[in-house]
Amino acid sequence: MGFEQRYIGCLGGTFDPVHDGHLAVAAHARLALRLDEMRFIPAGVPVHRGVPGASPEDRLAMLRLALDDRSGMIVDEREIRNARASQPNYTLHTLQSLRADMPRAMLCWIVGDDAFAALATWHRWQELFDCAHFIVVTRETRRELPETLRAFIRGREAASAETLRQQKSGLVYHLAMPPHVASATAIRAAIAENRTGNIQNLLPETVLAYIAQRRLYRA
Ligand code: ATP
Repeated sequence: MGFEQRYIGCLGGTFDPVHDGHLAVAAHARLALRLDEMRFIPAGVPVHRGVPGASPEDRLAMLRLALDDRSGMIVDEREIRNARASQPNYTLHTLQSLRADMPRAMLCWIVGDDAFAALATWHRWQELFDCAHFIVVTRETRRELPETLRAFIRGREAASAETLRQQKSGLVYHLAMPPHVASATAIRAAIAENRTGNIQNLLPETVLAYIAQRRLYRA
């Protein structure tokens, strides 16, 4: 890697299953922020939500299928590895470990505005900004931010993607993109209710075939 500055995007999530909304966000962020690499980081045991419908191995396999032929997009297994070692899955630890691996890189943690609105409930959330920038993308309905979070990010908002490149972490950038309707909850519900015709355009064919073959998300 030498002394060259690298620009890295990270999309954390349950990916239960990965869908076109995730892929659209990653592709858009990669272009708009001119990122060298996008890392998909599947959660092992998510701390903010219930147990996933699919096992870590199945969620990993689906991610690998979805990213198969996309250059510059990779799966980062560190949270799943930690879960195997029974460690809790805090984003702060993930970011600290990414930062330790890439001390000079600009790190962008990409989240939907639904996830960002809940940020102040995350473990030691203010410290996340010591490790990365936050890139917030709008989902279907725009979320209001709670006052604590609004106050904290005042003065940290980057007006342009270029501004982000002036520092390695610490800023918030609202990335405008057309909202993508896909949601993993809706996809799981459609499969459980045998309405798979409704979701064919919401996730890669290879992932859909894997779900069928492994009989995932059936009621
Ligand atoms: P679920 O419905 O199970 O909550 P999800 O579809 O939100 O799942 P996650 O794996 O939880 O998927 O999402 C990972 C990240 O991707 C989160 O930051 C989430 O806000 C974002 N995200 C997921 N779907 C979209 C979408 N359609 N548009 C923009 N961001 C999205």
